[in-house]
Amino acid sequence: MSRSAPTARPDEDRLWRLDLVYSIVLLVAAVSAVALAAADTGLFARGHGPGTAGFFIVFGLFAIATGFPHPVFGHVSFDRVAQVTSILVLGPVDAAWVNGLASLIYPWQRLRLGVSLRLVVTASLHNAGLMMFVILGSGLLYEYLGGAIPVTTLDLGAGLLLLALVTSMQVINDAGMMFMLYLRNMDPRQVFNRFTTVVEYVSGAAGIVLAVAFSSQTLSYFVLLVLVLAAGMLVIMKYALMRVRLEKLVDARTEELRIQAEEFERQATHDKLTGLPNRRHADSYLQQQVDLAQRKNRRGALALADIDHFKRINDGYSHAIGDQVLERVAQILSDGCRGTDFVARYGGEEFLLYFPDTGVDRAAQVCSELRKAVQQSDWTDIAPDFDVTISFGLAEIRNAKHSRSILDEADMRLYRAKRAGRNRVIAA
Ligand code: GH3
Ligand code: MG
Ligand code: MG
Repeated sequence: MSRSAPTARPDEDRLWRLDLVYSIVLLVAAVSAVALAAADTGLFARGHGPGTAGFFIVFGLFAIATGFPHPVFGHVSFDRVAQVTSILVLGPVDAAWVNGLASLIYPWQRLRLGVSLRLVVTASLHNAGLMMFVILGSGLLYEYLGGAIPVTTLDLGAGLLLLALVTSMQVINDAGMMFMLYLRNMDPRQVFNRFTTVVEYVSGAAGIVLAVAFSSQTLSYFVLLVLVLAAGMLVIMKYALMRVRLEKLVDARTEELRIQAEEFERQATHDKLTGLPNRRHADSYLQQQVDLAQRKNRRGALALADIDHFKRINDGYSHAIGDQVLERVAQILSDGCRGTDFVARYGGEEFLLYFPDTGVDRAAQVCSELRKAVQQSDWTDIAPDFDVTISFGLAEIRNAKHSRSILDEADMRLYRAKRAGRNRVIAA
């Protein structure tokens, strides 16, 4: 079983080029190694002709295709079945080019799924190169250790050699995959996991059983076995796809719930009309700021702002017009503050503003600008002689232990601003 080359992150252009260069070098080296080995033994050395090779190309493609997308390990396929069978029937040299060809062909169908050409080319070259090395290397080792091709009997000695064959295939494959992950700046340990190891060994065992059936000359038994195995692979694939779909569904639902929870949280902390943080939010924010200012010996200025004669707007026009005014004033206050400042709707037509790391004098200047901006805003779309003014009371946060005391201080100054004729800022 092999995993297709993992997807590179789109911004890693340089890395990606490194992938491609490496994949080309790997394939050229693998083809050279197979050619070198073939120069020694010749092609079709085991007496099987192009017909058998053709069968194993098709079988190899089928085995790769009956894989499934795994959420963590990418595309998991049963190609080990075809690889092991072909090594034990055709020998390492022919099995190497046959399966290399299948690995070279297979990734191209992903173009149809919208995978980019660059990724398909890399996967095709890399998988073919690595596969040829896996088969040639482990197949030659198996023969060198005395493993029989074709295998016809399965005793303990043969079993151990076959175990060595499948294990060496996995070791070479994992080493190749680890190097690829390393090139892509990903964690190479991703290669190791119990799930894919089990799939590899079970596929290898199935491949051995198939090879024995093939070599025992009982063609009908072999065909039956291929059909049963193929059906099994398809069932597993269907099951795995169903699981993936189910997981996607669960993920989508979880995301929906997360968004919903976020929306509830927003509704609990924000005012519906203006979209500003509400009183509850403002109170906890302010207490946090008071604690922070005390601990870190930092400054901060608080302002309470209240629209002047707002009741007259409601009574003289309508509640709806009053709402419109509230929205617009909220907008003017937000627009006039920096991103680090805090603006909340603190009550009916009352707003709380907080300026972190700011002295009360500077904050008073900002509030004066805000006061002017409210007054000078074009309110004539509401009524020709319509105007809105707002008053501010400020307090410095320094040395305050509890937010209540500075709120009281700001409120007292706001009250003084009202008494003094409204439309003004009082900071001391
Ligand atoms: P002052 O200049 O002294 O602040 O006078 P005021 O009329 O603004 O003060 P008062 O507190 O008497 O009136 C505030 C009004 O705001 C009373 C209330 O009905 C109205 N109000 C509170 N919440 C809302 C709201 O969400 N929408 C509208 N349209 N009016 C609201
Ligand atoms: Mg008011
Ligand atoms: Mg009020």
